[in-house]
Amino acid sequence: MTPVCATCGAWFPDAAKPPQRCAICDDERQYVPDGGQRWTTPDELAEGRSTDVRDLEPGLRGAGLDPSFAIGQRLLLVETPAGNVVWDMIPLVTDEGVRAIRDRGPVQAIAVSHPHFYSAMSAWSEALGGAPILLHAADRDFVTRPHPAIEHWDGDALELPGQLTLLRLGGHFEGGTVLHWPGGADGLGVLLSGDVVMVVPDRRYVSFMWSYPNLVPLPAHEVVRMAAALEPWQFDRIVGAWWTHVIRAGAKDAVRRGAERYVRALA
Ligand SMILES: [Zn+2]
Ligand SMILES: [Zn+2]
Repeated sequence: MTPVCATCGAWFPDAAKPPQRCAICDDERQYVPDGGQRWTTPDELAEGRSTDVRDLEPGLRGAGLDPSFAIGQRLLLVETPAGNVVWDMIPLVTDEGVRAIRDRGPVQAIAVSHPHFYSAMSAWSEALGGAPILLHAADRDFVTRPHPAIEHWDGDALELPGQLTLLRLGGHFEGGTVLHWPGGADGLGVLLSGDVVMVVPDRRYVSFMWSYPNLVPLPAHEVVRMAAALEPWQFDRIVGAWWTHVIRAGAKDAVRRGAERYVRALA
């Protein structure tokens, strides 16, 4: 069997029975539910689930599970003239999902923002012809299913094909990463932010957390540093980790405003 953590969706190495614990949910940022660690399998997950594919703007397609599972995020496919990149991950590989991604051309790489979304990345890489999985090295201890396609990168930025750039912002996780796509939003630029930069209901702001489920904030100096790291990058839109989490325009100001308000609230 392939054990899958029922709380975060992380896949584990094939085994006769599931392991005792999930390193991602044991971490203080996540949680083990009342009643203890629970496991499922890809077959169980596939039962009664379909894939929700949506085209969000030219060059950006999303694929999520319906009904959603665990943290409920969806993956994104960014298309560029130089090749396509899959951003973030979902806990299950489906034929429908793979077709939706492959239809748009070969995938050069898969990049994942942080361990909460590592989920089924190894199986997706296999389904996409062995696409390399780019993860920040600072979070290497959270890889629950080691795989030869995983490539750890170090430093604060990694250039990808099509002028895409992975930016390590840290914060929520030491290796917390966002993806800058200059061709998005009609050339005004898009930041794919996972939950490293969090889209909140008031779209004039963003927020930041060390732990979302357990409501643990980040220190002010970290938020100041993260906002400063985004200053040189041009973007008008932020696309977060869920369908509804999008700032369609004015996102750069939302980052400035959000960081400033956060620091003020902590003072
Ligand atoms: Zn877990
Ligand atoms: Zn997270």
